[in-house]
Amino acid sequence: MAATVHSPIVTYASMLSLLAFCPPFVILLWYTMVHQGGSVTQTCGFLWENGVQGLINIWPRPTAIAWKIIFCYGAFEAALQLLLPGKRVEGPISPTGNRPVYKANGMAAYFVTLATYLALWWFGIFNPAIVYDHLGEIFSALIFGSLVFCVLLYVKGHVAPSSSDSGSCGNLIIDFYWGMELYPRIGKNFDIKVFTNCRFGMMSWAVLAVTYCIKQYEINGKVSDSMLVNTILMLVYVTKFFWWEAGYWNTMDIAHDRAGFYICWGCLVWVPSIYTSPGMYLVNHPVQLGTQLAVYILVAGCLCIYINYDCDRQRQEFRRTNGKCSVWGKAPSKIVATYTTTAGETKTSLLLTSGWWGLARHFHYVPEISSAFFWTVPALFDNFLPYFYVIFLTILLFDRAKRDDDRCRSKYGKYWKLYCEKVRYRIIPGIY
Ligand code: NDP
Repeated sequence: MAATVHSPIVTYASMLSLLAFCPPFVILLWYTMVHQGGSVTQTCGFLWENGVQGLINIWPRPTAIAWKIIFCYGAFEAALQLLLPGKRVEGPISPTGNRPVYKANGMAAYFVTLATYLALWWFGIFNPAIVYDHLGEIFSALIFGSLVFCVLLYVKGHVAPSSSDSGSCGNLIIDFYWGMELYPRIGKNFDIKVFTNCRFGMMSWAVLAVTYCIKQYEINGKVSDSMLVNTILMLVYVTKFFWWEAGYWNTMDIAHDRAGFYICWGCLVWVPSIYTSPGMYLVNHPVQLGTQLAVYILVAGCLCIYINYDCDRQRQEFRRTNGKCSVWGKAPSKIVATYTTTAGETKTSLLLTSGWWGLARHFHYVPEISSAFFWTVPALFDNFLPYFYVIFLTILLFDRAKRDDDRCRSKYGKYWKLYCEKVRYRIIPGIY
């Protein structure tokens, strides 16, 4: 029986609210951005007048073209994941003592995807503006398709789990929501979470960022500096992600969260729709910032993305070298923590207590949130909606920091307590 850190009540409340509110929210956000000029007030007015029937009327039905676009994109990404060469990389030891093996070809897949997409546009084979024109139908298809996908994951977890890192907690709803398997695979090599989180979700972020830019160009015959700053920062962020993809395989999403509705639906629907939304807004709002302001925002955003990357790199390098590395020019300060796996084996982990990881236990979330702010602020302040992602991300990461602290406390016990005494703040040094 799989252990779960989430109580049934929290899971039911969280699942019901996600199921009830997220799909309509995705549609309303798209509708407000594309058809109401980004004005929440106008959409609220529309809903006030027309009620639930109004929502049903604006909800686009998934069309054949939407399914075709999703299928071609998904199949292309799956093929790249399987076929492109890449270094063999070992993931972290799982709770039952397994070590998953991956092929690190994310950066190659990223470049092939963007090059193919731009080439299709350049040579007049496929116009990315079509994706924007059918965005509502695509999101609608993703909402329903991903739900079916999660049901299949649940069934697979029961009938054909890929490894011993799987199992039921005895409650159908919790199993469906938090997932059955940690590393579900098709065959030996096709890792489903790498596909959903990285190659579908994160890749769609870059693809849609480019799409929005091209759509604005098609409408106005030029691209505004605000759109350029937004697109460049989002692309720098996603490039950083794929550059560091093997490191991502060591993080909570992959190493701790099982493949269920929470993470997979989030990556398949929420990332393409909500994460990309500041760019979606800018398509119809070609704000001109002026070169100086545009450059300031661009530099500040790049700096935040770099710091976020450097935090992740520092922790990864520290773990990879077993603490035999230099952190900010000095030998790292560390805690040697032991813990017991669910199979009863005693293992050792190192906790870094200097560098970025000595400022706060989750300091890396500060530059993460700031980067999102910098690729949104080109939209200026006419409307609140483009800032939704920054607010959502802040709530997500504050909750995540707490979840991670709770998990590490139960994993490392007194060693985590020692870490908390040495590094007192959770996210913002001196404040929280
Ligand atoms: P990480 O996985 O990077 O860090 C948490 C884990 O690191 C802990 O579970 C623990 O794992 C280990 N750890 C904790 N403290 C230390 C330490 N002092 N020294 C060494 N190891 C430690 O966190 P996230 O997955 O949350 O973040 C990864 C990246 O993804 C970040 O850049 C973050 O900003 C980004 N992110 C972005 C999101 C988005 O929606 N845009 C959402 C979430 C994250 P162990 O059990 O191995 O000890």
